[in-house]
Amino acid sequence: MITIIKNAEVYNPDRAGIKDVLLIGDKIAAIDDHISIDTKGLVEVTEINANGKILVPGFIDSHVHILGGGGEGGFSTRTPEATLSGLTTAGVTTVVGCLGTDGVARDMFSLLAKARGLDEEGITTYIYTGSYRLPLRTITGEIMKDIMAIDKIIGIGEVAISDHRSSQPTFEEFVRAVADARVAGMLSGKAGIINIHLGDGSRKIDLLRRTLKETEIPITQFLPTHVNRNPELFEECVYYAKDGGYIDFTGSEDPDFWEETDGEVRFSKGLKRLLEEGVNQNNFTLSSDGQGSMPIFNEKKEYVGIGIGKSTSLIKAIKECVFRESIPLETAIRAITSNPAKILKLNKKGKIEVNMDADLCMLDENLDVDTVIAKGKIMVQDKMPVVYGTFENK
Ligand code: ZN
Repeated sequence: MITIIKNAEVYNPDRAGIKDVLLIGDKIAAIDDHISIDTKGLVEVTEINANGKILVPGFIDSHVHILGGGGEGGFSTRTPEATLSGLTTAGVTTVVGCLGTDGVARDMFSLLAKARGLDEEGITTYIYTGSYRLPLRTITGEIMKDIMAIDKIIGIGEVAISDHRSSQPTFEEFVRAVADARVAGMLSGKAGIINIHLGDGSRKIDLLRRTLKETEIPITQFLPTHVNRNPELFEECVYYAKDGGYIDFTGSEDPDFWEETDGEVRFSKGLKRLLEEGVNQNNFTLSSDGQGSMPIFNEKKEYVGIGIGKSTSLIKAIKECVFRESIPLETAIRAITSNPAKILKLNKKGKIEVNMDADLCMLDENLDVDTVIAKGKIMVQDKMPVVYGTFENK
């Protein structure tokens, strides 16, 4: 499988200029001003004309309920599973799956199976072990064994704190789980990251702060998410990021609505604030909370039903950064490419460099997702899926 992408404006994610990019198998083989190869007709070469297009690394969505989530309104509000084309048409080539509030009717083995299924269908998947609840329910019976023995498990989460739906973990319970994730990560060369669901409770990140104060665990062991759910929480998280912590924004399908009704800090505004505060440009990520349940309201603010989070919120948020806040694309796009790759130790992901995985996303002049390549294979072309999941309607 050989593909040449011609004349793309490459952001690797830093702007690298107009380049040709050669893909061989599932790896990026070369990046140069002009690439042409002669295979003497022995091997088929696919050429993609990227004139006027922008090429960025395939997106990493680091928090998706791939097995479905929700359920807080009763069994009929359990959300459906993620689909391959739902992810790829949003530019996502790597997804990290998690359970949520419900770690009982949905369990880790099913999550692992779902991740393997999406992998077979063509994208890269990882998962966190556990759910909102502590002590965690794992596959092998132990956090450390899960992380060390199961290739797809890169950490724990989403562990809920400061939320009425959390298991109200004690400090000791929390710290023990965190320590196990850290040590298992070290022993297996993985991130061992602790993905923390922050609720809108008044304790905000107190448990995290206490852990950092009273233990030797470094601040970089954590990736708290939903940091932008309200202005007060976000303020705390700005300072947490200034102290060297990583923070994960949650994207939104309807940022105007949530900003107005809930005071949610939209990614573009939040990122602008981080940049003004001089936060390290490696320390922020953006994820979609995909397949999480989301109430929908009409213009009169009347509840009309329940929807689900989607990975398309990622590029929407990036577009707002560029077009509304004049944040350079190369800065904003880090949130869904090189930053999550580094934080989650996905060493072959998140950059357009030789020997990295051939995961790429081509954007048009409006920054809409046009073509998506995952593991060297074209998944989306001219905004339409060319590869579908096993049971998707074509
Ligand atoms: Zn959550």
